[in-house]
Amino acid sequence: MTHDAERDWKPATSLVHGGTLRSDHGETSEAIFLTQGYVYESAEAAEARFKGETPGFIYSRYANPTVDMFEKRMCALEGAEDARATSSGMAAVTSAILCGLRAGDHIVAARALFGSCRWVVETLAPRYGIEATLVDGTDIANWHKAVRPNTKLFFLESPTNPTLEVIDIAAVAKLANEIGARLVVDNVFATPLQQKPLQLGAHVVVYSATKHIDGQGRCLGGVILSDKKWIDENLHDYFRHTGPSLSPFNAWTLLKGLETLPLRVRQQTESAAKIADFLAERPEIARVIYPGRADHPQADVVKRQMSGGSTLICIELKGGKKAAFAFQNALKIVLISNNLGDAKSLITHPATTTHKNLTDEARAELGIGPGTVRLSVGLEDAGDLVTDIERALKAA
Ligand SMILES: *Cc1c(COP(=O)(O)O)cnc(C)c1O
Repeated sequence: MTHDAERDWKPATSLVHGGTLRSDHGETSEAIFLTQGYVYESAEAAEARFKGETPGFIYSRYANPTVDMFEKRMCALEGAEDARATSSGMAAVTSAILCGLRAGDHIVAARALFGSCRWVVETLAPRYGIEATLVDGTDIANWHKAVRPNTKLFFLESPTNPTLEVIDIAAVAKLANEIGARLVVDNVFATPLQQKPLQLGAHVVVYSATKHIDGQGRCLGGVILSDKKWIDENLHDYFRHTGPSLSPFNAWTLLKGLETLPLRVRQQTESAAKIADFLAERPEIARVIYPGRADHPQADVVKRQMSGGSTLICIELKGGKKAAFAFQNALKIVLISNNLGDAKSLITHPATTTHKNLTDEARAELGIGPGTVRLSVGLEDAGDLVTDIERALKAA
Protein backbone atom coordinates (compact mmCIF):
# COMPACT_ATOMS: atom_id res chain seq x y z
CA MET A 1 0.00 0.00 0.00
CA THR A 2 1.23 3.48 -0.78
CA HIS A 3 1.24 6.30 1.75
CA ASP A 4 -1.71 8.70 1.62
CA ALA A 5 0.50 11.63 0.61
CA GLU A 6 1.85 9.62 -2.32
CA ARG A 7 -1.58 8.98 -3.81
CA ASP A 8 -1.79 12.36 -5.57
CA TRP A 9 1.65 12.13 -7.14
CA LYS A 10 1.91 12.07 -10.90
CA PRO A 11 3.77 9.03 -12.31
CA ALA A 12 7.08 10.86 -12.81
CA THR A 13 7.16 11.73 -9.10
CA SER A 14 6.10 8.27 -7.91
CA LEU A 15 8.77 6.71 -10.08
CA VAL A 16 11.52 8.70 -8.37
CA HIS A 17 10.25 8.65 -4.77
CA GLY A 18 7.45 6.08 -4.46
CA GLY A 19 7.85 3.34 -1.87
CA THR A 20 11.28 4.49 -0.64
CA LEU A 21 12.29 2.82 2.64
CA ARG A 22 15.13 4.99 3.94
CA SER A 23 17.38 3.42 6.57
CA ASP A 24 18.76 5.20 9.66
CA HIS A 25 21.70 6.36 7.53
CA GLY A 26 19.45 8.63 5.47
CA GLU A 27 20.91 7.50 2.15
CA THR A 28 19.72 9.44 -0.93
CA SER A 29 19.61 6.49 -3.31
CA GLU A 30 17.69 3.33 -2.46
CA ALA A 31 19.79 0.86 -0.46
CA ILE A 32 20.45 -2.67 -1.64
CA PHE A 33 19.58 -4.97 1.25
CA LEU A 34 21.55 -7.95 0.04
CA THR A 35 20.59 -10.18 2.93
CA GLN A 36 18.93 -13.57 3.17
CA GLY A 37 17.67 -13.25 6.71
CA TYR A 38 17.00 -10.82 9.57
CA VAL A 39 17.98 -10.98 13.24
CA TYR A 40 15.71 -10.50 16.24
CA GLU A 41 16.46 -8.73 19.51
CA SER A 42 15.14 -11.66 21.53
CA ALA A 43 13.50 -15.04 21.21
CA GLU A 44 10.22 -13.35 22.14
CA ALA A 45 10.67 -10.85 19.28
CA ALA A 46 11.22 -13.73 16.84
CA GLU A 47 8.10 -15.45 18.11
CA ALA A 48 6.03 -12.26 17.75
CA ARG A 49 7.34 -11.64 14.22
CA PHE A 50 6.46 -15.19 13.15
CA LYS A 51 3.00 -14.86 14.68
CA GLY A 52 2.49 -11.70 12.64
CA GLU A 53 2.00 -9.65 15.82
CA THR A 54 4.84 -7.25 15.00
CA PRO A 55 5.78 -5.97 11.56
CA GLY A 56 9.14 -6.73 10.01
CA PHE A 57 11.03 -8.97 7.67
CA ILE A 58 11.58 -12.68 8.32
CA TYR A 59 13.35 -14.17 5.32
CA SER A 60 14.04 -12.81 1.83
CA ARG A 61 12.06 -15.56 0.14
CA TYR A 62 9.04 -13.95 1.85
CA ALA A 63 9.97 -10.29 1.55
CA ASN A 64 13.00 -8.00 1.44
CA PRO A 65 13.24 -4.21 1.91
CA THR A 66 14.71 -3.48 -1.55
CA VAL A 67 12.19 -5.77 -3.24
CA ASP A 68 9.48 -4.14 -1.13
CA MET A 69 10.46 -0.70 -2.47
CA PHE A 70 10.17 -1.99 -6.04
CA GLU A 71 6.74 -3.52 -5.33
CA LYS A 72 5.46 -0.34 -3.68
CA ARG A 73 6.75 1.86 -6.50
CA MET A 74 5.06 -0.38 -9.07
CA CYS A 75 1.79 -0.20 -7.07
CA ALA A 76 1.98 3.60 -7.12
CA LEU A 77 2.54 3.62 -10.87
CA GLU A 78 -0.14 1.09 -11.70
CA GLY A 79 -2.70 2.28 -9.17
CA ALA A 80 -2.78 -1.21 -7.66
CA GLU A 81 -3.32 -2.11 -4.00
CA ASP A 82 -0.62 -4.74 -3.84
CA ALA A 83 2.12 -6.46 -5.82
CA ARG A 84 4.54 -9.38 -5.78
CA ALA A 85 7.86 -9.08 -7.57
CA THR A 86 9.25 -12.14 -9.31
CA SER A 87 12.57 -13.38 -10.63
CA SER A 88 11.45 -13.06 -14.26
CA GLY A 89 8.47 -12.08 -16.34
CA MET A 90 7.64 -15.74 -16.90
CA ALA A 91 7.60 -16.39 -13.13
CA ALA A 92 5.02 -13.58 -12.92
CA VAL A 93 2.89 -14.94 -15.76
CA THR A 94 3.04 -18.56 -14.55
CA SER A 95 2.23 -17.63 -10.94
CA ALA A 96 -0.62 -15.30 -11.94
CA ILE A 97 -2.20 -17.96 -14.15
CA LEU A 98 -1.74 -21.08 -12.03
CA CYS A 99 -2.30 -19.67 -8.53
CA GLY A 100 -5.88 -18.62 -9.16
CA LEU A 101 -6.91 -21.94 -10.75
CA ARG A 102 -7.64 -25.51 -9.72
CA ALA A 103 -7.84 -28.79 -11.64
CA GLY A 104 -11.06 -28.77 -13.64
CA ASP A 105 -10.98 -25.03 -14.37
CA HIS A 106 -10.85 -23.61 -17.89
CA ILE A 107 -8.84 -20.73 -19.39
CA VAL A 108 -9.71 -18.63 -22.42
CA ALA A 109 -6.66 -16.86 -23.82
CA ALA A 110 -5.93 -14.70 -26.83
CA ARG A 111 -3.83 -16.85 -29.16
CA ALA A 112 -1.33 -14.08 -29.99
CA LEU A 113 0.92 -14.64 -26.97
CA PHE A 114 4.60 -14.41 -26.16
CA GLY A 115 5.94 -17.91 -26.93
CA SER A 116 6.54 -18.98 -23.32
CA CYS A 117 3.14 -17.63 -22.19
CA ARG A 118 1.55 -19.73 -24.88
CA TRP A 119 3.44 -22.82 -23.62
CA VAL A 120 2.21 -22.23 -20.04
CA VAL A 121 -1.41 -21.96 -21.19
CA GLU A 122 -1.35 -24.61 -23.91
CA THR A 123 1.06 -27.23 -22.55
CA LEU A 124 1.77 -26.78 -18.81
CA ALA A 125 -1.72 -25.98 -17.49
CA PRO A 126 -3.38 -29.03 -19.14
CA ARG A 127 -0.90 -31.33 -17.30
CA TYR A 128 -2.64 -30.24 -14.10
CA GLY A 129 -6.15 -30.65 -15.42
CA ILE A 130 -6.64 -27.03 -16.48
CA GLU A 131 -7.86 -26.83 -20.06
CA ALA A 132 -7.33 -23.84 -22.30
CA THR A 133 -9.03 -22.48 -25.40
CA LEU A 134 -7.06 -20.07 -27.57
CA VAL A 135 -9.02 -17.53 -29.60
CA ASP A 136 -8.44 -14.63 -31.95
CA GLY A 137 -8.76 -12.06 -29.17
CA THR A 138 -9.43 -9.07 -31.42
CA ASP A 139 -13.10 -10.07 -31.85
CA ILE A 140 -15.06 -10.11 -28.57
CA ALA A 141 -17.51 -12.62 -30.11
CA ASN A 142 -14.73 -15.22 -30.01
CA TRP A 143 -14.34 -14.79 -26.22
CA HIS A 144 -18.11 -15.24 -25.77
CA LYS A 145 -18.08 -18.42 -27.88
CA ALA A 146 -15.17 -19.97 -25.99
CA VAL A 147 -16.69 -19.55 -22.51
CA ARG A 148 -17.63 -22.77 -20.67
CA PRO A 149 -19.38 -23.21 -17.31
CA ASN A 150 -15.96 -23.81 -15.70
CA THR A 151 -14.16 -20.83 -17.29
CA LYS A 152 -12.33 -19.09 -14.44
CA LEU A 153 -9.61 -17.10 -16.15
CA PHE A 154 -9.10 -14.91 -19.21
CA PHE A 155 -5.57 -14.14 -20.30
CA LEU A 156 -4.38 -11.69 -22.92
CA GLU A 157 -1.45 -9.62 -24.05
CA SER A 158 -2.03 -6.27 -25.79
CA PRO A 159 -0.43 -5.03 -27.98
CA THR A 160 0.57 -8.55 -28.95
CA ASN A 161 3.96 -9.92 -29.82
CA PRO A 162 5.07 -9.51 -32.57
CA THR A 163 2.18 -8.30 -34.72
CA LEU A 164 1.03 -5.55 -32.31
CA GLU A 165 -2.66 -6.45 -32.45
CA VAL A 166 -4.64 -4.50 -29.88
CA ILE A 167 -7.36 -6.22 -27.86
CA ASP A 168 -10.31 -4.34 -26.33
CA ILE A 169 -9.46 -4.85 -22.63
CA ALA A 170 -12.63 -3.18 -21.31
CA ALA A 171 -14.85 -5.46 -23.41
CA VAL A 172 -13.03 -8.62 -22.28
CA ALA A 173 -13.09 -7.42 -18.65
CA LYS A 174 -16.84 -6.84 -18.86
CA LEU A 175 -17.41 -10.39 -20.10
CA ALA A 176 -15.09 -11.75 -17.38
CA ASN A 177 -17.17 -9.97 -14.74
CA GLU A 178 -20.41 -11.30 -16.21
CA ILE A 179 -19.25 -14.92 -15.96
CA GLY A 180 -17.30 -14.56 -12.71
CA ALA A 181 -13.86 -15.07 -14.25
CA ARG A 182 -10.65 -13.11 -13.64
CA LEU A 183 -8.90 -11.22 -16.42
CA VAL A 184 -5.10 -11.30 -16.32
CA VAL A 185 -3.37 -8.85 -18.69
CA ASP A 186 0.28 -9.11 -19.74
CA ASN A 187 0.94 -5.38 -20.24
CA VAL A 188 4.59 -5.58 -21.26
CA PHE A 189 4.28 -4.16 -24.78
CA ALA A 190 2.19 -1.16 -23.68
CA THR A 191 4.37 -0.42 -20.62
CA PRO A 192 2.68 0.77 -17.38
CA LEU A 193 2.65 4.31 -18.79
CA GLN A 194 0.68 3.88 -22.01
CA GLN A 195 -2.08 1.52 -20.91
CA LYS A 196 -3.80 0.99 -17.53
CA PRO A 197 -5.48 -2.44 -17.54
CA LEU A 198 -6.79 -2.15 -13.96
CA GLN A 199 -8.63 1.06 -14.86
CA LEU A 200 -10.08 -0.75 -17.89
CA GLY A 201 -11.51 -3.44 -15.59
CA ALA A 202 -8.79 -6.13 -15.61
CA HIS A 203 -8.22 -7.90 -12.27
CA VAL A 204 -4.53 -8.73 -12.49
CA VAL A 205 -1.65 -7.12 -14.43
CA VAL A 206 1.70 -8.77 -15.06
CA TYR A 207 4.99 -7.41 -16.36
CA SER A 208 8.27 -8.71 -17.51
CA ALA A 209 10.34 -5.97 -15.82
CA THR A 210 13.19 -7.28 -17.96
CA LYS A 211 11.86 -5.13 -20.78
CA HIS A 212 11.14 -1.39 -20.50
CA ILE A 213 11.25 -1.26 -16.68
CA ASP A 214 14.93 -2.20 -16.59
CA GLY A 215 15.21 -0.80 -20.10
CA GLN A 216 18.96 -1.11 -20.22
CA GLY A 217 19.38 -4.80 -20.87
CA ARG A 218 20.80 -5.75 -17.47
CA CYS A 219 18.65 -8.11 -15.48
CA LEU A 220 15.51 -10.25 -15.45
CA GLY A 221 12.54 -9.48 -13.26
CA GLY A 222 8.78 -9.47 -13.16
CA VAL A 223 5.84 -8.26 -11.14
CA ILE A 224 2.19 -9.16 -10.53
CA LEU A 225 -0.23 -6.41 -9.47
CA SER A 226 -3.79 -6.77 -8.22
CA ASP A 227 -6.04 -6.06 -5.25
CA LYS A 228 -4.75 -7.03 -1.82
CA LYS A 229 -7.42 -9.67 -1.27
CA TRP A 230 -6.58 -11.57 -4.48
CA ILE A 231 -2.87 -11.45 -3.71
CA ASP A 232 -3.37 -12.56 -0.09
CA GLU A 233 -5.64 -15.42 -1.10
CA ASN A 234 -3.81 -16.61 -4.20
CA LEU A 235 -0.16 -15.58 -4.10
CA HIS A 236 0.85 -15.13 -0.46
CA ASP A 237 1.42 -18.76 0.51
CA TYR A 238 2.58 -19.78 -2.97
CA PHE A 239 5.34 -17.15 -2.92
CA ARG A 240 6.49 -18.10 0.56
CA HIS A 241 6.65 -21.79 -0.13
CA THR A 242 7.74 -22.07 -3.77
CA GLY A 243 10.21 -19.16 -4.06
CA PRO A 244 9.87 -17.27 -7.35
CA SER A 245 11.25 -14.25 -5.46
CA LEU A 246 13.17 -11.39 -7.06
CA SER A 247 16.80 -10.88 -6.03
CA PRO A 248 17.36 -7.65 -4.01
CA PHE A 249 20.13 -6.63 -6.41
CA ASN A 250 17.82 -6.97 -9.41
CA ALA A 251 15.08 -5.11 -7.51
CA TRP A 252 17.52 -2.23 -7.01
CA THR A 253 18.44 -2.24 -10.72
CA LEU A 254 14.73 -2.12 -11.59
CA LEU A 255 14.12 0.72 -9.09
CA LYS A 256 16.80 2.72 -10.89
CA GLY A 257 15.13 1.80 -14.18
CA LEU A 258 11.77 3.11 -12.96
CA GLU A 259 13.26 6.55 -12.25
CA THR A 260 13.86 7.12 -15.96
CA LEU A 261 11.01 5.01 -17.39
CA PRO A 262 8.80 7.96 -18.51
CA LEU A 263 11.71 9.72 -20.24
CA ARG A 264 12.81 6.59 -22.03
CA VAL A 265 9.37 5.40 -23.09
CA ARG A 266 8.43 8.86 -24.35
CA GLN A 267 11.63 9.20 -26.39
CA GLN A 268 11.52 5.64 -27.76
CA THR A 269 7.83 6.00 -28.72
CA GLU A 270 8.52 9.32 -30.48
CA SER A 271 11.36 7.77 -32.48
CA ALA A 272 9.31 4.64 -33.24
CA ALA A 273 6.44 6.74 -34.63
CA LYS A 274 8.87 8.58 -36.93
CA ILE A 275 10.47 5.33 -38.10
CA ALA A 276 7.05 3.70 -38.68
CA ASP A 277 5.98 6.62 -40.87
CA PHE A 278 9.27 6.44 -42.77
CA LEU A 279 8.92 2.67 -43.33
CA ALA A 280 5.31 2.94 -44.52
CA GLU A 281 6.49 4.94 -47.54
CA ARG A 282 9.29 2.57 -48.56
CA PRO A 283 8.87 0.36 -51.65
CA GLU A 284 10.68 -2.60 -49.96
CA ILE A 285 7.97 -2.83 -47.27
CA ALA A 286 4.71 -4.74 -47.75
CA ARG A 287 3.18 -3.60 -44.45
CA VAL A 288 3.94 -1.67 -41.28
CA ILE A 289 1.89 -2.32 -38.14
CA TYR A 290 2.22 0.41 -35.55
CA PRO A 291 -0.32 1.33 -32.84
CA GLY A 292 -0.68 5.06 -33.26
CA ARG A 293 -0.84 5.05 -37.05
CA ALA A 294 -4.28 5.61 -38.58
CA ASP A 295 -3.90 2.41 -40.66
CA HIS A 296 -3.50 0.17 -37.56
CA PRO A 297 -6.15 -2.62 -37.76
CA GLN A 298 -7.59 -1.66 -34.34
CA ALA A 299 -6.92 2.09 -34.52
CA ASP A 300 -10.21 2.87 -32.73
CA VAL A 301 -9.35 0.61 -29.76
CA VAL A 302 -5.84 2.09 -29.61
CA LYS A 303 -7.38 5.54 -29.35
CA ARG A 304 -9.74 4.43 -26.56
CA GLN A 305 -7.41 2.46 -24.34
CA MET A 306 -3.83 3.60 -24.96
CA SER A 307 -2.32 6.96 -24.18
CA GLY A 308 0.60 6.53 -26.57
CA GLY A 309 1.77 4.43 -29.49
CA SER A 310 4.48 1.85 -28.95
CA THR A 311 8.23 1.54 -28.80
CA LEU A 312 7.87 -1.46 -31.13
CA ILE A 313 7.13 -1.73 -34.84
CA CYS A 314 6.09 -4.83 -36.78
CA ILE A 315 7.44 -4.78 -40.35
CA GLU A 316 6.58 -7.09 -43.22
CA LEU A 317 9.27 -7.02 -45.91
CA LYS A 318 8.56 -7.90 -49.52
CA GLY A 319 10.84 -10.77 -50.49
CA GLY A 320 10.23 -13.08 -47.49
CA LYS A 321 12.94 -14.62 -45.32
CA LYS A 322 15.76 -13.78 -47.74
CA ALA A 323 14.92 -10.08 -47.66
CA ALA A 324 14.32 -10.12 -43.88
CA PHE A 325 17.69 -11.75 -43.19
CA ALA A 326 19.56 -9.47 -45.64
CA PHE A 327 17.92 -6.41 -44.03
CA GLN A 328 18.87 -7.50 -40.49
CA ASN A 329 22.42 -8.35 -41.53
CA ALA A 330 22.91 -4.96 -43.21
CA LEU A 331 21.92 -2.93 -40.13
CA LYS A 332 24.86 -1.33 -38.31
CA ILE A 333 23.28 0.48 -35.34
CA VAL A 334 20.24 -1.76 -34.80
CA LEU A 335 21.38 -5.04 -33.27
CA ILE A 336 19.95 -8.49 -33.93
CA SER A 337 18.47 -9.67 -30.63
CA ASN A 338 15.22 -11.20 -29.41
CA ASN A 339 14.92 -8.82 -26.43
CA LEU A 340 12.89 -5.60 -26.45
CA GLY A 341 12.37 -2.35 -24.57
CA ASP A 342 16.14 -1.80 -24.37
CA ALA A 343 18.04 1.49 -24.75
CA LYS A 344 19.66 -0.21 -27.75
CA SER A 345 17.51 -0.69 -30.85
CA LEU A 346 16.98 -4.40 -31.46
CA ILE A 347 15.53 -6.36 -34.35
CA THR A 348 14.30 -9.93 -34.47
CA HIS A 349 12.89 -12.36 -37.04
CA PRO A 350 10.07 -14.07 -35.09
CA ALA A 351 9.50 -16.98 -37.50
CA THR A 352 13.02 -18.35 -36.91
CA THR A 353 13.51 -17.27 -33.27
CA THR A 354 10.80 -16.34 -30.75
CA HIS A 355 7.99 -18.10 -32.66
CA LYS A 356 9.95 -20.97 -34.23
CA ASN A 357 8.12 -23.59 -32.12
CA LEU A 358 4.73 -22.78 -33.61
CA THR A 359 3.41 -24.70 -36.61
CA ASP A 360 3.33 -22.92 -39.97
CA GLU A 361 -0.47 -22.67 -39.67
CA ALA A 362 -0.30 -21.17 -36.16
CA ARG A 363 2.22 -18.62 -37.39
CA ALA A 364 0.05 -17.78 -40.40
CA GLU A 365 -2.97 -17.30 -38.09
CA LEU A 366 -0.97 -14.77 -36.12
CA GLY A 367 0.14 -12.95 -39.25
CA ILE A 368 3.81 -13.89 -38.78
CA GLY A 369 5.22 -14.41 -42.24
CA PRO A 370 8.73 -15.25 -43.46
CA GLY A 371 9.24 -11.53 -44.16
CA THR A 372 8.08 -10.33 -40.71
CA VAL A 373 10.58 -8.57 -38.45
CA ARG A 374 9.96 -6.88 -35.10
CA LEU A 375 11.87 -3.69 -34.37
CA SER A 376 12.30 -2.47 -30.78
CA VAL A 377 13.30 1.18 -30.99
CA GLY A 378 15.96 2.34 -28.53
CA LEU A 379 17.37 5.63 -27.33
CA GLU A 380 19.73 6.35 -30.22
CA ASP A 381 19.18 9.51 -32.31
CA ALA A 382 16.08 8.94 -34.45
CA GLY A 383 17.78 10.42 -37.52
CA ASP A 384 20.70 8.00 -37.17
CA LEU A 385 18.27 5.10 -36.90
CA VAL A 386 16.39 6.17 -40.04
CA THR A 387 19.70 6.46 -41.92
CA ASP A 388 20.77 2.99 -40.73
CA ILE A 389 17.41 1.47 -41.72
CA GLU A 390 17.33 3.21 -45.11
CA ARG A 391 20.85 2.02 -45.95
CA ALA A 392 20.02 -1.53 -44.87
CA LEU A 393 16.82 -1.60 -46.95
CA LYS A 394 18.77 -0.49 -50.03
CA ALA A 395 21.51 -3.03 -49.37
CA ALA A 396 18.95 -5.81 -48.95
C1 LIG B 1 9.58 -11.02 -22.34
C2 LIG B 1 8.15 -11.25 -22.12
C3 LIG B 1 7.72 -12.15 -21.14
C4 LIG B 1 8.67 -12.97 -20.31
O1 LIG B 1 9.51 -12.21 -19.54
P1 LIG B 1 10.96 -12.69 -18.99
O2 LIG B 1 11.37 -11.60 -18.10
O3 LIG B 1 11.82 -12.86 -20.21
O4 LIG B 1 10.74 -13.98 -18.30
C5 LIG B 1 6.35 -12.31 -20.99
N1 LIG B 1 5.46 -11.63 -21.73
C6 LIG B 1 5.85 -10.75 -22.69
C7 LIG B 1 4.83 -10.04 -23.49
C8 LIG B 1 7.20 -10.53 -22.91
O5 LIG B 1 7.59 -9.67 -23.85
